[in-house]
Amino acid sequence: MADYPNTRLFIDGAWCDAADGRTIDVLDPATDEVIGTVAHAGRVDLDAALAAADKGFRAWSATSAFERYRLMRKAADLLRARAETIAAMLTREQGKPVAEAKGETLAGADIIDWFAEEARRTYGQIIPARVAGVTQMAVKLPVGPVAAFTPWNFPINQVVRKLSAALAAGCSIIVKAPEETPAAPAELIRCFVDAGIPAGVVNLVYGDPAEISSYLIAHPVIRKISFTGSTPVGKQLAALAGTHMKRATMELGGHAPVIVLDDADVGQAVKVMAMSKFRNAGQVCVSPTRFLVQDGVHDAFLAGFTAAAKALRVGNGLDPQTQMGPLANNRRIPALEALISDAAGRGAEIATGGRRIGNTGNFFEPTVIAGAPTDSRIMNEEPFGPVAIVNRIGSLDEAIAEANRLPFGLASYAFTRSADAAHAIGLRVEAGMTTINHNGLALPEVPFGGVRDSGYGTEGGSDAIEPYLVTKFVTHLAN
Ligand code: NAD
Repeated sequence: MADYPNTRLFIDGAWCDAADGRTIDVLDPATDEVIGTVAHAGRVDLDAALAAADKGFRAWSATSAFERYRLMRKAADLLRARAETIAAMLTREQGKPVAEAKGETLAGADIIDWFAEEARRTYGQIIPARVAGVTQMAVKLPVGPVAAFTPWNFPINQVVRKLSAALAAGCSIIVKAPEETPAAPAELIRCFVDAGIPAGVVNLVYGDPAEISSYLIAHPVIRKISFTGSTPVGKQLAALAGTHMKRATMELGGHAPVIVLDDADVGQAVKVMAMSKFRNAGQVCVSPTRFLVQDGVHDAFLAGFTAAAKALRVGNGLDPQTQMGPLANNRRIPALEALISDAAGRGAEIATGGRRIGNTGNFFEPTVIAGAPTDSRIMNEEPFGPVAIVNRIGSLDEAIAEANRLPFGLASYAFTRSADAAHAIGLRVEAGMTTINHNGLALPEVPFGGVRDSGYGTEGGSDAIEPYLVTKFVTHLAN
């Protein structure tokens, strides 16, 4: 068994316990065992983190973009070098297969590199003046200390996007990382510490999410927040950010449609989508969920996808043979069971799966449901688990109407050989991202974010640093 550490807070350049010594147990989702603890920050610790972030901002915003770039590149290299050890910890606390955990860690290093490069490109403008002797400049400055709130499904990835964008822009940050999966994000932060990040620039806390977010968002030191999680919580935090006039980025839930048309390469669609659906046991905000399959290929797609789901090896993520691990926390099991039994009660067919596996660990069968009626809960609520719904559609227009029926708008997928259909889907499906005939989402250099109830702002691509910057206008008459 891989060693698993007790995780501490990181405040003002030092690893520390909570001032009042409180901790939270961390469980292995494959065995239900307590494998360690994480420090539970209280008000005293949050005040210390805020004071540190305030001080850290002054130091870091005065550090040149080139120095920030150099330090970030060093942290990325450390993360790469430690990927094996970090992946084992990540699998123990989160459950995903260790190869996926390693992939997430290495992808994290690429994200740091991308934002490090972006640090050097925060260009402003010189604007031609109306009056001789006047120089007009629009300069980009860091917005200030950031508070970031991240979930348990990608313990490294969710932190690294926010942390890297903030640091690249010259902001300090307080990360409230997930209590269920604390060790991997702490190891990510350790890479920045070992690369030489000055005290106070990066701070890490855990505790009661609602208590921490309500205190930090309202606090005058914090100038920007970024949250990844469910839509209901995102709406609460966005409202609080609005009350205190804080900038916000919201990366929330989804219910991704997958349009498969008669002219699609069905084999390719099955292969790509089975891999995407069951990755991280479906606990992915961009997970493909509503498969809208045209009449002519519906039966072939359903048969192929069901066979792919049945063939998956489910087990402890530390076993290299495992293709799908347990769910990260046991509250997803009753949630999934309720959604599946509601759909079955309304006439949907369970093509495979639908049940918990065993009674130790949070293992759940890869599940395919066919013909779920529109009013079933699962057609309206994000399952956030290894469940796909395959429904029959008649036409492209019908598919697009169904894709746009829900208030979510994060990822969307399509398979077709028709350039016209691909064009229509790309423009008419209301989602932040559409990937056609392959899965091309979430690279560091491409936009990543949603519309409507899936939130706002992007966490990838060349626009992702912008929310961490303010534009300041300076006009100067030489005399
Ligand atoms: P949840 O809504 O209780 O929590 C989701 C995340 O938000 C967790 O990380 C939690 O710690 C955090 N959170 C909750 N209340 C908060 C608050 N007041 N302030 C700050 N952070 C807060 O749900 P859950 O049971 O942990 O996860 C299930 C649902 O969450 C899923 O159905 C999915 O919609 C959503 N989720 C989305 C993502 C994503 O990548 N977008 C990731 C994890 C969970």
